Amino acid sequence: MRGNMRNEFPIKQMTIGGIDIAQYTIVYPKDGNVSLQKAAVLLAQMIHKATGYELTVADDSQLTDYEIILDKTHRDTEELKRMRALIKNDGYAILVEHGRLYITGVNARGTRNGIFTFLEDQMGFRFYTREFLVIREATGIEILEGTKKVYGPDFEYREVYWLPAYGDRELSSMHRLNGKREGDDGINIEYALFVHTLSVLLDEPHQMNCQPCLSDEKVYQRVLSNVRKKLDENPNATIISISQNDSEGEGCGCQCEKCRAIDQAEGTPMGSLLRFVNRIAEAIKEDYPHILVDTLAYRYTRKAPKTLVPADNVIIRLCSIECDFAHPISDEKIGGNLAFKKDIEEWAKICKRLYVWDYTTNFAYYLAPFPNLYTIYDNIQFFKEHNVVGLFEQGNAQSPTDDFGELRGYLIAKLLWNPNISREEYLDLMDEFLQDYYGAGWRYIREYIDRITTRASANGFQIYSMPVQYLTAKGGDKEEDRAFWNEMLKLWDDALDMAESEEQRNHVRQSRLQAEFYLLYAHFDHQDGRFEEFYRQLKEFGITMHREGVKLPDVTDFSPGLAGWYET
Ligand SMILES: [Zn+2]
Repeated sequence: MRGNMRNEFPIKQMTIGGIDIAQYTIVYPKDGNVSLQKAAVLLAQMIHKATGYELTVADDSQLTDYEIILDKTHRDTEELKRMRALIKNDGYAILVEHGRLYITGVNARGTRNGIFTFLEDQMGFRFYTREFLVIREATGIEILEGTKKVYGPDFEYREVYWLPAYGDRELSSMHRLNGKREGDDGINIEYALFVHTLSVLLDEPHQMNCQPCLSDEKVYQRVLSNVRKKLDENPNATIISISQNDSEGEGCGCQCEKCRAIDQAEGTPMGSLLRFVNRIAEAIKEDYPHILVDTLAYRYTRKAPKTLVPADNVIIRLCSIECDFAHPISDEKIGGNLAFKKDIEEWAKICKRLYVWDYTTNFAYYLAPFPNLYTIYDNIQFFKEHNVVGLFEQGNAQSPTDDFGELRGYLIAKLLWNPNISREEYLDLMDEFLQDYYGAGWRYIREYIDRITTRASANGFQIYSMPVQYLTAKGGDKEEDRAFWNEMLKLWDDALDMAESEEQRNHVRQSRLQAEFYLLYAHFDHQDGRFEEFYRQLKEFGITMHREGVKLPDVTDFSPGLAGWYET
């Protein structure tokens, strides 16, 4: 493709080591993981989108003049090998040497991560959602001879449960997350069993608020035999979870004399659980040396034991479910956060592999604003500082939502990949997203975020809090609340007026529903057919769930309003 047609593409000119990119061939290892060939094709497609050039994709069996070389191939140089040895986790190295551009990881996943970072950092790609990809305009991009970069993320495990990031395998990969997805060719982290597994491992139906006796030898033998069975059935797995059944409160462990004796000696019901998990981990270590045994420090087992230490092949997955997300976890003035902080400090001392299961939405009110966009930054920094090496960020992975699911998924993924960015850099990422996604009126949306965040911080909120408890002004009356939220809605309407494309208008309209939700929910007396219109728009944007595991009801009579949805 040449001449004036090139003007249609965002990047007008691009060179590697001074040579026009049009001359390059993308090379992948013939004997490498099958996902590398797919990655090569994907890179060619992206380069085409950006420059209009269609590069040839070939395996490494034949030499061509100018090459972009992916992963380990016959072209490995001493310098590339030296750089690869420095890579941490599933990071990457990029090198331009003798006119060749090398992108490599230690494994296929790392190489893919390098490709997406290259597209972002060097070519100006922004992978926002599956439907919404932006490529920055550029007159000329030069990737210079001698370019060198090695990067490895601090977090070895990165998982984001927000539908826009989680539900889409390709986007998840572009976001450099590494939890398993269907069709990812076995390159990501895979579970033989996920969480709350003791019932399954005992061949029992799923239990709630009920735990087996972990001092019972029969329980041990059966779990051990089922763990071996699950691992044999899942040869690609790297993790198996041996964890308590789900529970809603405290004191749910076995209360027999033996279990209680251990728990009392260790100062926590984690005592009997960890002793059990360590014993299984020890028993399978030799036959399954690549397997990590994952267990939950959750609710009644959150506190670390006094003397027991997790075995080397055990992951402790600590859950932040009780925290107040209006304030950073490091905020010691908040009792719940201080208690969690004390627990994580203890775990940090004794864990080789500490993961955190963190929560980032209102699970009882998916449609309500949950103003945690600032604390997400603080908390991910906090986890990193407390020796956490894996993060599972649970949000609304069940349905599209009005509550910034796209923005949150994007920002969290960015922080998981690089938690070392400054607060300013984080806010720049947020602003850039707002600008691209919502258009020229993005500052109104930033103002909205800031104002509701300030308002909610005065109250504090947890993951099941009622929106009227945290989104009203402290000491404010109903009139103030209605006036404030109508002002908030006005900010969305102003942003809508300035949106430049149908796509941006729809983004604003979908996210605006969160403010409308609050007004309808808290001030039902103030509406004229608005609930019906709100409901119609939820359907329009494919929003199917309004709380964890609960579908939108079928509504034909709109007179009772939203209140009926939340009677439990
Ligand atoms: Zn017991």
